[in-house]
Amino acid sequence: MYKPGTPIHPPLYLVHTRIPCERCRTDMPVVALLAPNVPSMKGEIIILSEIREMPHAVAQAIRQRFPNFRLTRTRVGGYRYYGNTCPGCSGLYDDFYLHCEPDAPFCPMTGEEAERLTLEPMALEEPFTVRANLGMGIGDLILYHAKRGDGTHAYREQG
Ligand SMILES: [Zn+2]
Repeated sequence: MYKPGTPIHPPLYLVHTRIPCERCRTDMPVVALLAPNVPSMKGEIIILSEIREMPHAVAQAIRQRFPNFRLTRTRVGGYRYYGNTCPGCSGLYDDFYLHCEPDAPFCPMTGEEAERLTLEPMALEEPFTVRANLGMGIGDLILYHAKRGDGTHAYREQG
């Protein structure tokens, strides 16, 4: 079945933290994309996961900042998506465990948990199209509570 991609409009944010690799325990950076302006999602703040296709320029820009975020084949199912790989053992840290499990870093349940994440805007001026999972219901918590690159919090600046 043909599935068209999802248009994403600026701004786009990198959300990141560090966790131990599930296999070799190397302290590794993990990153996800937060997209507050997805026209088809009517104002919902989206977290992208299992990104199967995105423009080369966007992938390159993410890799400049996070060199271990790359197109990788999953162990189960054998399909490919852009994911976080370990600098120690090269293994993929599966997006399912980063986004969908209780205590997953990109699935905070409280503002306090979201404060462990850091938010960083990407220099993106043009809309682009992705094929990815569109995560709903979490993005606003991250957008308002995650640390900015300079260590401040958006909601504290506002309030
Ligand atoms: Zn590892």
